[in-house]
Amino acid sequence: MNNMVNVVLLGAPGAGKGTQAEQIMRRYGIPQISTGEIFRRNIREGTPLGTAAKAYLDAGGLVPDELTVNLVKDRLAEPDCAKGFILDGFPRNIPQAEALDSLLTSLGQKLGAVVSISITDAEIVGRLSGRRVCRGCGKTYHIQYNPSAVEGLCDNCGGEVVQRDDDREATVLQRLAVYHAQTAPLLDFYRKAGVLLEITSHEKVEDTSAEMVSALAKVFGQGESDGPSGSGA
Ligand code: ADP
Ligand code: ZN
Repeated sequence: MNNMVNVVLLGAPGAGKGTQAEQIMRRYGIPQISTGEIFRRNIREGTPLGTAAKAYLDAGGLVPDELTVNLVKDRLAEPDCAKGFILDGFPRNIPQAEALDSLLTSLGQKLGAVVSISITDAEIVGRLSGRRVCRGCGKTYHIQYNPSAVEGLCDNCGGEVVQRDDDREATVLQRLAVYHAQTAPLLDFYRKAGVLLEITSHEKVEDTSAEMVSALAKVFGQGESDGPSGSGA
């Protein structure tokens, strides 16, 4: 129980949470849980959850806490979370953070680390305009910084790589406003709890990863991957 790798990733839209989550997932063998990706998948599949969430995503606002917290609760109960989890996009406000605390307490667990990836607003707008996502598996790319091997096609699954509807400029600005008003206060919340690890989002994905990996290693150990200098990597 004590060696569970329970991680929250915080950062403005476009900070690179999804990409960094993949690194942690591989290193520690734990699942990435992206609430945004779960909502988008449900919208694509036309499920009741998708129908309930769609208007909020289209407007760049937050899906109501009750819906979101229940979704996370169910997801954390799945067997692949036995060794831990990476939450990407949750919590998004103080009530969700408090709900996560009580949920973990009820499971006899706690958060090991909250990684905050910081980035300026100016960089965000540039990045989101170049961001692309796979329709099939949800893997994210950037046309400049992290392109797929074949333009428009996913490296993972061969699916179509497209721009997200909510990466249009007006929606991006609204998402940023929501981030500053509701999500940024979580930095203080987790700083006070003594679990916050602050790193900077660099232009190169690898530079950000390196910073994150060494911060996490101090809390959870190295994990299984040796990184670029390791044998067979
Ligand atoms: P990004 O981090 O790039 O803004 P996400 O994929 O995390 O994007 O989220 C996309 C959208 O999904 C959000 O703008 C919001 O509408 C909804 N969403 C995701 N996570 C949450 C959450 N924890 N609470 C409420 N709404 C959420
Ligand atoms: Zn894919």
